[in-house]
Amino acid sequence: MQNIQAPKGTKDVTPAESHKWHYIESNMRELCRLYGARELRTPVIEHTELFLRGVGDTTDIVQKEMYTFEDKGGRSITLKPEGTAGMVRAFLENRLFNEPMPQKLYYLNSPTFRYEKPQAGRLREHHQFGIEMVGAYGAETDAEVILLALTLFEKLGVRDLMLHINSIGCPECRRDYNKALREYLEGYLPEMCETCRSRFDKNPMRIIDCKEERCRQIVKNAPRTIDYLCEDCRRHFESVKACLDAAGAEYVVDPDIVRGLDYYTGTVFEVISNRIGAQGAVCAGGRYNGLIEELGGQSIPAVGFGMGMERLLAVMEANEVKFPKPPAVKVYFAAMGEAPRLKAFALAQELRRAGISAEFDHMDRSFKAQFKYANKIEAEYTVAIGDEELASGTVRVKRMADGEERELEISGLASFFA
Ligand code: ATP
Ligand code: MG
Repeated sequence: MQNIQAPKGTKDVTPAESHKWHYIESNMRELCRLYGARELRTPVIEHTELFLRGVGDTTDIVQKEMYTFEDKGGRSITLKPEGTAGMVRAFLENRLFNEPMPQKLYYLNSPTFRYEKPQAGRLREHHQFGIEMVGAYGAETDAEVILLALTLFEKLGVRDLMLHINSIGCPECRRDYNKALREYLEGYLPEMCETCRSRFDKNPMRIIDCKEERCRQIVKNAPRTIDYLCEDCRRHFESVKACLDAAGAEYVVDPDIVRGLDYYTGTVFEVISNRIGAQGAVCAGGRYNGLIEELGGQSIPAVGFGMGMERLLAVMEANEVKFPKPPAVKVYFAAMGEAPRLKAFALAQELRRAGISAEFDHMDRSFKAQFKYANKIEAEYTVAIGDEELASGTVRVKRMADGEERELEISGLASFFA
């Protein structure tokens, strides 16, 4: 029989890697604390309808990438393909709008599923860190959300990232823009991919985001949203830039960014690395002033981003970031003989209860092999226990780094190591 393997496009996080994730996660949590964001956890599954309405039924995500299935009760269920729709649903369902505004909500390590062609930087299950700042319209809010991401990169020692920003305008700007875009695209219709042809009437802006080479060539010279902003949107975008300038953040205005989800209005942005190959977007987001109403709430503005944790890790590795080593076990008890082994077992428990990591031999190894093992796991101290030590009630404690030994009473071990 063949071995069962992990599904294509998924990745295990082995113990040799998981401490890196812990490091990243703790930095994210600390940063969220500094910015006043609180965690909101949502389920991995949602009703498919949420994403059809939230993400948009002409997007790549909905048209090509969702893991959708019917459950045993006949409901259409989808594995989360992005974070925001679920956050907004939970925001409304839990009536968080009754709490003081604005609300800064974050999610961490959220499993995200997209049926994509697996390749470097593109998984079928990846994990996202994201923040949603709900209730405020001002440009400082957009800038603050962006700065939270940039501060995280700085904190994690990642350089070589560039912030790209753009504005895709509000529904009012979109009307003029769509008209201009259709006029431009009309002549190319027969050359476009089938998906884009179907987008032409419903949502032509999606064509700008198409990954097919022939469509990309066509849209190269297409009109860009930034040239069609209404007065309000233009001023808002100018203010976002002014806030970023005031905070000393570097950025480029990139009219090519339209983002692959329908809910965005106004500011959109991506933070891009050129060190991790073609899939360089580590973080992406923008303002979504219409989504909460679209999903059944009041008209409440919001802005947020999603960050791919695997891509972040890849960028950190490309930057040769030094991850703090996970702490090794503090005390290893080497024991020989039945009674000493039992004592080692009990002492290890006692130390752990006192908050000190401890280990002993589970493998019935020789004394020598136990020390070898202690060396391998880089135990900070070893304590040898035989019948003699039991009788005298004292043990020799060896500090492995320099070999320094000292004699201690067994009863005083916990307080010594504490
Ligand atoms: P791309 O243009 O690379 O397909 P996207 O626009 O589809 O990205 P978003 O929906 O903005 O991506 O998701 C937010 C972030 O999640 C991305 O910037 C990226 O870091 C990460 N991400 C998205 N899809 C994947 C994936 N398939 N595998 C790994 N990370 C991903
Ligand atoms: Mg994508």
